[in-house]
Amino acid sequence: MDSSLLLTAFVKLMENSRSMIFVKDTELRYVAASSNYIDALGREDIVGKTNAELFGSSPRAKAIGEEQQILDSGVDMIDTVREYAQESGVLRCLVSKHILRDGEGNTIGLLGVYRSLADARLVVENSRLMREAERDAMTGLLNHGYTLKYLSAFLEGEGKLNSHALIFLDLDHFKDVNDTFGHLYGDSVIKKAASLINHSFRGSDLIGRMGGDEFLILMKNIPDPELVCRKAEELNQSLHFDCIEGDKRITVSASIGVAFYNGDGVGVKALISYADGALYKAKEAGRDCYRVAEQTQI
Ligand code: GH3
Ligand code: MG
Repeated sequence: MDSSLLLTAFVKLMENSRSMIFVKDTELRYVAASSNYIDALGREDIVGKTNAELFGSSPRAKAIGEEQQILDSGVDMIDTVREYAQESGVLRCLVSKHILRDGEGNTIGLLGVYRSLADARLVVENSRLMREAERDAMTGLLNHGYTLKYLSAFLEGEGKLNSHALIFLDLDHFKDVNDTFGHLYGDSVIKKAASLINHSFRGSDLIGRMGGDEFLILMKNIPDPELVCRKAEELNQSLHFDCIEGDKRITVSASIGVAFYNGDGVGVKALISYADGALYKAKEAGRDCYRVAEQTQI
């Protein structure tokens, strides 16, 4: 292998790539860096220095702990999304840090590569990663964290002054489905329920799986509470179905709690607890029905 040819090619690549690139030795001192990386750092005199020497205890020096850990663990960091505050705004990057080894496998340094997410191709990849991060893998609905995040953002933002309905739904005696038909069959019932719920609401409504057999729905901009009660009845009907295998049969159903938000600024936590309380009442009333929270009774 002609190492001088390889070195020339690497320097060429480093200088012409849209990615920002650095090379450090095993003490995490800069050996070389692309000019766009040096521009982003805002320091030119970096060769031979560590981030701590260059930036003291500022957030940039934090990379040292991470990089030392990569060297110690022997495991590369691949495509981690990072944000960096810059004068022109926030720079979002996909960051990879690769351990460099010699022919005998000894660690000789670290290669860092930062790809800006402003790059059009990466924007697509980034939005795919973002979409995946917010979804529950089994049902494709919003997951617990993002349901709460979007719910809070909406009720504290654009939806603050309008009327909405929060629906809390939990399948009845779902443990029996698992116990009778097995967990995999149970999964397929959760997916079916999620799909039925998803198709019952407008695309603009928020629909999330809160975990297990629990779902949360925010019906946005409700002109008439009666409409929500009709929707809850419809849900009770569509989520009432039989599971049959061989001579075994279980009827699935759902209990539903409804709480109304009337542009009154009531907090998300309180609203959820109202809907949860109403759900509990539906369970107490024998399940397979809905109840409206008393705090916000129509
Ligand atoms: P209840 O009528 O009071 O709601 O009774 P339940 O049996 O449905 O009990 P609960 O809602 O408290 O618990 C839900 C059960 O759903 C617990 C667990 O056995 C099961 N479960 C939770 N997550 C999953 C999952 O991802 N797949 C499957 N198959 N079952 C799950
Ligand atoms: Mg349940």
